This record gives sequence, structure tokens and C-alpha cells, in this order.
Amino acid sequence: MIKIEQEAWDLMVAHAQKTYPNECCGAMLGPIDGDVKTVRVALPLENAYPGAQRERYELRPEDLLFAEREARKNGMDLIGIFHSHPDCDAYFSKTDLENSCPWYSFVVLSIQKGQFQHANSWLPNMEQTEAAKEELEHPHA
Ligand SMILES: [Zn+2]
Repeated sequence: MIKIEQEAWDLMVAHAQKTYPNECCGAMLGPIDGDVKTVRVALPLENAYPGAQRERYELRPEDLLFAEREARKNGMDLIGIFHSHPDCDAYFSKTDLENSCPWYSFVVLSIQKGQFQHANSWLPNMEQTEAAKEELEHPHA
């Protein structure tokens, strides 16, 4: 399961609402203890998708590398990636699946009319053909 702490959560929601109506993205850092991942730090990253950013996001490999280094520097792990779905549910799309990495958690925040609605966390399988819903705990619903 994945637990998101207050400070990280506030930052993720603020980033998602600020970038609305476009999709936002970022990294989630924290300790991994067995199958409990605790997101302590959220790192907003730039959506580098050159096309319509309200439909998808793209992370630069160097930004992901930076997030990985930030985690290590602070004795944490890169738990996963978050992004938002403007005026859409927090499902895991076919594009999301194709661009995923099986070893990360993918938190999707649904932002409707600029306001946070709900969130889900997804775990893609090794073949990136489907993603299972991961138990998610965050400060406010
Ligand atoms: Zn998506």
C-alpha cells in the first residue's frame, strides 16, 4: 500500500490545481518498508509533452534521474510518479500504461473544474498490459 503524508499531499494537490486545465506531473519520494510505501516528499516536475498538455504528460529522463538522486541523497526511495487528469476520472489510461515503469507506483489525481476530486494509485504489470489498483491512503478525501 501507499500512504501519502500531509505536506507531500498538499503539494501534489496544489500542483495539480495550479496546472489545471493541463496535466501536471511529479515524483514521490519516501521510505519503502516491506509493502508499505510512505510518500514524505513530493517533487513537482515539468510536463514536457510538446503537444496538448491537457491530454497527457511527459517526464524528461533527466528530471526522473534528478528525482532519483534527490531520494538517495536523503536516504529515501523514488516511490513513483504522480500526475493529474483534468476533468477526467483517476483511471489509468492506455497511454499511461504504455509510458509507465512496472517498478513504480502511479498516483493519478482527478481534478474537476480546477478542484481536486479523488485519487487512485496504480501498479502496472511487467508487460505494461494492465495496472492493478493499489491501496492508497491520503490526508483528505
Ligand atoms: Zn494519465
